[in-house]
Amino acid sequence: MTATDERQINSIFAREVLRRLETSYGRPAWRVEHTPLDELVLTILSQHTSDINCERAFTSLRTAFPTWDEVVAAPDDAIADAIRAGGLARVKAPRIKMVVSQVLAGHLLDGIEERPLAEAKALLRSLPGVGPKTAACVLLFACQRPALPVDTHVYRVSQRIGLIDGSTNPEDAHEALEALLDPQDVYSFHVNMIQHGRAICRARSPQCAGCPLAGLCRHPVNA
Ligand code: SF4
Repeated sequence: MTATDERQINSIFAREVLRRLETSYGRPAWRVEHTPLDELVLTILSQHTSDINCERAFTSLRTAFPTWDEVVAAPDDAIADAIRAGGLARVKAPRIKMVVSQVLAGHLLDGIEERPLAEAKALLRSLPGVGPKTAACVLLFACQRPALPVDTHVYRVSQRIGLIDGSTNPEDAHEALEALLDPQDVYSFHVNMIQHGRAICRARSPQCAGCPLAGLCRHPVNA
């Protein structure tokens, strides 16, 4: 079998995985809620914390500094105070300030929605501390572009199902999984895989008996 044949088979497989997940969890509406820069800062804040604490930290930051120019001008300690609810404030504050400074100084995110996808990813990844997951979050959530963020749930579930093999690292999984999906399905795949990873295919004690992917999953943990 050629590599192209294998990819086509895996694309059909991914489509069936998504069809079953959507039957269980639904197909989410793909809406934009933040600007690219807001989303970028939110994604930095989301590292190693819960969604709720991340939102709290972001709201507190925007209340303390209503414009991004004010964040650039603020001392690190003041930014850290504002984002304390999100945890790791002393690490995240200088990172946020550096990223926002570079974006504003170079107008880096202007028109990012219109750039070719690979170019948009490379531009985001040129920023300090921005890896493939953060870049994909900005493009998927703020620009409605078909870039797939691979978090711990997407990665674990994809390996168990057999969409990627055990030798694919999380970084490479971004491109490998994205290549299997139709662009209009990337958002739903991301949301549904996280939902499935939280509800059924949990890291510990996955519920294989009641899993909507039973019979399709290539490596069931509790077969
Ligand atoms: S069958 Fe088990 S391992 Fe496979 S996706 Fe379902 S819960 Fe996860």
